[in-house]
Amino acid sequence: MRTVRMNKRELLKALSAGSLALPWSRAAQPAGLARVVVVGGGMAGATAAKYLRLWSQRSIEVTLVEPSAQYTSNIMSNLVLTGQYSPSILNYGWSNLQRNYGIARVVGSVTAVEPGGSLGAWKVSIATASGTQVRYCERVVLAPGIQFDAVPSMQDASVPAPILHAWQAGPQTLQLRDQLAAMPATGRFVMTIPKAPYRCPPGPYERACVVADYLKRNKPGAQVLVLDANPDIMAERENFSLAFGTMYASNLRYLSGRVLRSVQASAGQAGGAVRVDVVVRDASGQELVMGSETHEAQVLNVIPPHRAGAIVQALGLADAGGFAPVDGRSFESTLPGRAGLHVIGDAAKTTLPKAGHVGNQGAKICADAIVRAFAGLPPYATPTANSACFSPLSNSLASWLTAVYQYEQDPVSGAWRFVARDQVAGTVGATEAAGPSTEQFEKMGTWYRSLMNETYL
Ligand SMILES: Cc1cc2nc3c(=O)[nH]c(=O)nc-3n(C[C@H](O)[C@H](O)[C@H](O)COP(=O)(O)OP(=O)(O)OC[C@H]3O[C@@H](n4cnc5c(N)ncnc54)[C@H](O)[C@@H]3O)c2cc1C
Repeated sequence: MRTVRMNKRELLKALSAGSLALPWSRAAQPAGLARVVVVGGGMAGATAAKYLRLWSQRSIEVTLVEPSAQYTSNIMSNLVLTGQYSPSILNYGWSNLQRNYGIARVVGSVTAVEPGGSLGAWKVSIATASGTQVRYCERVVLAPGIQFDAVPSMQDASVPAPILHAWQAGPQTLQLRDQLAAMPATGRFVMTIPKAPYRCPPGPYERACVVADYLKRNKPGAQVLVLDANPDIMAERENFSLAFGTMYASNLRYLSGRVLRSVQASAGQAGGAVRVDVVVRDASGQELVMGSETHEAQVLNVIPPHRAGAIVQALGLADAGGFAPVDGRSFESTLPGRAGLHVIGDAAKTTLPKAGHVGNQGAKICADAIVRAFAGLPPYATPTANSACFSPLSNSLASWLTAVYQYEQDPVSGAWRFVARDQVAGTVGATEAAGPSTEQFEKMGTWYRSLMNETYL
């Protein structure tokens, strides 16, 4: 592919002149129009909307579609679960983005995206309180987050029982908080972790730690049991192993290779039982089921496997694994006939972790590529994304994990993918804090506020 080098000023000049040919963009677009609809105002969608306006100097018309009245952050929600923080610290809105960048907002859910004929490359249908609205645009950025798979029930399916995941912050966060507070003094909190890829790789281990810390201080006879479908701790292995083995040696048990089969919960009660298969891998990586176990719980927290949000599934943008394959230079779908549809955030299938900070970064790569596309330029060939993630390990200690992801070609397979690479030493892998500290707990607050302001202000 031809590489066009242009600095930002030249790019913006070309964009505002509207005179460039479109060698890269495959999406049909009526001359002179630059309209983008962003679906979902979470960490990824809000960032994309903001930076499309900023980096195009407002020459791209951006409509953000989101059904909720406010955004509830997942980040920090584990400390709301333990009652340490007020739920209000999770609340963000879109009015700043509308005011500061001139983003148009539609309150509703996108139900369909189809070719727009002579009125635009894409026609977007939106279900709103007052009926269906339609928007035409040249590109659509889909950032709907995730949806959860149904959990098989051990009991008669006609007896509905709420099984809380609290993996989408909101009402379930508060319900699980209340169940934890009401748990008997010698009760057991059982949580299950799905196989990767799942949202926020360190998140479940962080939750296990802060719940164990809460129980240690408030219900010293109570226990935490973590049933992980993965063969090992999936992120920040050093710090979580340290916490499990020392800080919570007396009240937390961690079992890997436990794949959820079914759940028995009772209507109106927090407790129940989970049945898991005990799985090991042989030398070739093949999974062998060695048996099954049933674990009783006074509070159940089942995080089911998940996949890209419903609209991504409905548009046929996801593969068999449930997420949408995209070109890492632009986050445009790589599936045939989907040119001009970009998928960002947790819904995308890349080698990047599914995290809010990373969603923010991917959204910027996508926004930059769209600005370039409207100027007739190819996307930047080798983008980087960075990620910083603080994890509370108790009510006063935190650790962190950081990485810079470089988009590069595998020398053997030729596949392009993001690789966590130390930019100085060149070594592969993320870096974690040398250990937990109170200073890092304080810095976590600054990091959270900065990230959220960067996204919503
Ligand atoms: C407990 C927990 C702790 C976490 N901690 C961290 C952390 O410390 N650091 C970190 O980086 N990440 C963390 N994460 C992960 C992070 O929250 C997610 O990766 C991030 O929110 C993903 O952003 P997103 O925009 O893809 O999805 P979301 O933030 O979920 O946003 C999706 C939005 O799309 C909207 N939507 C869905 N469908 C439609 C539709 N059809 N039409 C219009 N709108 C639609 C939804 O209403 C929603 O607002 C944590 C997650 C959890 C669960």
